[in-house]
Amino acid sequence: MDREIRRADVVIVGGGASGLAAAIELGMKAPALDVLVIEKMPEPGRKIRATGSGRCNISNTAAAGFSRIMEFFREIGLVTKTYENGLVYPYSESAADVATLLTERAASLGVKIACGEELMTVKYLPASLAFEGAPEDRNIFMLETVIKDRDGLRSIRTHALYVILAMGGKAGPTFGTIGDGFRIARNLGHRIVTPVPALTGIECDEWEEGNKPCGITLGGTRSSGVVSLYRDPDEVFGEETKVFEEAGEIQFTKYGLSGICVFNMTRYMRFNRRAGESLDQFLVKVDLFPDGDITEYIRDRQKGCFADTPVGEMLRTVFKEPLADYVIGASDDGPDENGRAFEDRSISSLSDEEVRTIADHVHSLEFHPVQMRGWNDAQVTMGGVSLDEINEATSESLLVKGLYITGELADRDFRCGGYNLSNAWITGLAAADDIAQ
Ligand SMILES: Cc1cc2nc3c(=O)[nH]c(=O)nc-3n(C[C@H](O)[C@H](O)[C@H](O)COP(=O)(O)OP(=O)(O)OC[C@H]3O[C@@H](n4cnc5c(N)ncnc54)[C@H](O)[C@@H]3O)c2cc1C
Repeated sequence: MDREIRRADVVIVGGGASGLAAAIELGMKAPALDVLVIEKMPEPGRKIRATGSGRCNISNTAAAGFSRIMEFFREIGLVTKTYENGLVYPYSESAADVATLLTERAASLGVKIACGEELMTVKYLPASLAFEGAPEDRNIFMLETVIKDRDGLRSIRTHALYVILAMGGKAGPTFGTIGDGFRIARNLGHRIVTPVPALTGIECDEWEEGNKPCGITLGGTRSSGVVSLYRDPDEVFGEETKVFEEAGEIQFTKYGLSGICVFNMTRYMRFNRRAGESLDQFLVKVDLFPDGDITEYIRDRQKGCFADTPVGEMLRTVFKEPLADYVIGASDDGPDENGRAFEDRSISSLSDEEVRTIADHVHSLEFHPVQMRGWNDAQVTMGGVSLDEINEATSESLLVKGLYITGELADRDFRCGGYNLSNAWITGLAAADDIAQ
């Protein structure tokens, strides 16, 4: 295999959010530096194009470094709009526009972007070992990359004074992130906190065929409600074991639970498989009627003109049909002594205990997580390069001088709402500003 050799002052590995932000900032602040972005996908910013369901929720007024991020976007000419809830989007609501603008700005500032090129290894070694005539007293980085094209495999060796690892995590592998960055950082001496998919759906036991009530009836149903997460290794799940609660739209899918509030909940479901822990220590409860007390609602209707209404009909006026059926299934204790099915009985015939049972299911419908959805469905990676080994202000490694670790590759993850992209922009900018100085 032929090998090309080239040099750059700064090599940025990864043309995603943090890599492109760093590249542009370097182009603006340190135009004399020779900056090269290495991106393994055929074009930069593939993941950016998919963010926010194609709208790109670029930031949030409550995100760390928000004003700095907005200053950056103003400088590069992106017009944004901010919603009342603090979420910031490009004015065009087009994620593709953001990716295109970042790529074009980087190129116009003289940054070279090498696409379809994959980083294989990085070495940090005395410059004199890398090439003849190099200064004795300083280390440089030697990167080995490969390009696969019609002519076969080409290998390139690049010498650089600074390296920014902006390689993302493992979430969304179709966008180029399969965890290469963890291997590279580990080989450079960094500790990797075990990566786990987050901001994703969860598969639940109740959905397995044969379970009662079978979740198949719920697939595709959406409802507002409150999700709560309980964590207890002894699986007692008392109120004091509640670790998360959020209101929002809950999506019941063919495998389990999804939706923004469920995504946010997954960030609290970290567990250590090696230490024998599993998802069994978690229990999810859903309150389908958080704005009131369903017991009072039923008791009111047990008297007066609604008294003869069948239980099923009553619940179907409050909840979407599949949810009402699910609650009926969960509360059903079999036909009464006259052989009438639970859902056909009149509201007035319900005993206090039966009303309590319905209320238990409406206010705390229980689901047992068995598995998180995998990397394909996850929006972020929980885990990554240990933060103990990174200078938070500059993104520089505390172990290897001149090495910077930005974005999702580091062990930082945030809830939905523009916080993860904010983290990518701000850590990329911090690295570039430090190098530019
Ligand atoms: C579907 C989806 C929607 C999302 N929506 C939002 C949203 O609206 N708002 C929000 O805040 N966050 C969102 N996120 C999360 C956000 O996109 C990420 O947190 C962010 O992109 C991380 O930026 P990064 O620069 O660290 O990595 P990435 O943007 O993932 O970029 C890493 C780059 O490195 C490249 N790379 C990896 N390995 C190599 C290698 N060996 N050689 C060369 N290149 C390599 C990859 O191809 C990739 O282009 C979303 C994520 C997904 C998957």
